[in-house]
Amino acid sequence: MPFDPASLAFATRAVHAGAAPDPATGARAQPIYFTNGFAFESNEQAADIFAMRATGFSYSRGSNPTVAALERRVASLEGAKAAVAVASGQSAMLLVLLTLMQTGDAYVSSARLFGGSLGLMRRLETRYGLTPQFTRGLTPDDFEGAITEATRAIVCESIVNPCGTVIDIAGVAAVARRHNLPLVVDNTLASPALIRPIEHGADIVVHSTSKFLSGSGTVIGGIVCDAGRFDWAATGRYSLITDPWPDYDGLVVAERFPETSFATACRLFGLRDLGPGLSPMNAFLTLTGIETLPLRMERHCANAMAVAGYLRAHPKVAWVSYPSLPGHPGEAVANAYVPQGAGSIFTFALKGGERAALDFITGLDLISHLVNIGEIKSLAIHPATTTHRQLREAEKVAACVGPDTVRLSIGLETVEDLIADVEQSLAKLAA
Ligand SMILES: *Cc1c(COP(=O)(O)O)cnc(C)c1O
Repeated sequence: MPFDPASLAFATRAVHAGAAPDPATGARAQPIYFTNGFAFESNEQAADIFAMRATGFSYSRGSNPTVAALERRVASLEGAKAAVAVASGQSAMLLVLLTLMQTGDAYVSSARLFGGSLGLMRRLETRYGLTPQFTRGLTPDDFEGAITEATRAIVCESIVNPCGTVIDIAGVAAVARRHNLPLVVDNTLASPALIRPIEHGADIVVHSTSKFLSGSGTVIGGIVCDAGRFDWAATGRYSLITDPWPDYDGLVVAERFPETSFATACRLFGLRDLGPGLSPMNAFLTLTGIETLPLRMERHCANAMAVAGYLRAHPKVAWVSYPSLPGHPGEAVANAYVPQGAGSIFTFALKGGERAALDFITGLDLISHLVNIGEIKSLAIHPATTTHRQLREAEKVAACVGPDTVRLSIGLETVEDLIADVEQSLAKLAA
């Protein structure tokens, strides 16, 4: 490489980091390596790669050159030492929890999370004995108050799905450091263009790349990023990282890969054993999406701010949860972390209750009624009967998704057209 990618600005890295013209052909776009296997040069090389004594491609379940380019790019954008791409955001969260913990362990988690994460956590508790210790609120003190002897990690989202609350990551990271716990941040709703949790003290960052990173609502994917600075050996609680692996000639991941121990454990256990690898095609589409991420996020935030402001002034609307709005309870934290706007996913409630919320969604013309978020097109959904329907009533209250609540994901259309669509649907509701 003629330049040091780490010295380049964010938008430049979004276009260039992790990929270069193909040395074999000169192809400028990242080639899609559709191959399962890679020919070895010798028996020694094959054995070395299998034993983790040498790096190299062997079989695409564990790593693939197109997927590796995506991993390098996201690692660069997040300021991570390494990243591991997987088939979905769900599998990213699963891999993190299973790599950190074993049956009997517990972890503190924000009570307000993406519904799929909450569902996964409950299933892992009842079937595999990994106990989530949910916080009462979202302040650093709430996280500290939930920690016990059994706690092995702290988990939160940077911007909470669906209500848009911005978490004080540096405050929660200080709690994690005091208790020698790794902090895991799901950064899906912010994307690294808005928040880079590692800069605020996070140890592990996960994404659903199905959302802002790929951007167009065309591919499912996930990624795990390792900041590479947590001292795993200090407590001896993370056996996959600090104990010898008998089937790898006694390999101790933390000793052999001190800067990328967590990512390496995720790759060995997560990809080689469990197997939720990302397709090279999806990696290519996600890389392409990331090239425009900084530009898109500016427009997403500006449009969301305008639509949220319009809704808050409307007489049929009870409240709007977009923390960047002036006077919102979360405004100070939001302005500290995301002065450009708290992303483009937020909730609002209708005075007319559940009937009005459901009718508002079906009354929209331009804004699509669907469950994705963070894509170019604007979207609306009723969380209480869809994404969050599996939650118990108390959990729905904690997640701020009552029957009267609508979630919007604001896209890149001309904002006057979005407001006109919202306006005509609200106008059809009973006063
Ligand atoms: C969508 C989402 C996930 C799950 O990602 P998939 O790619 O749909 O599996 C995880 N966390 C958050 C915050 C999400 O919005």
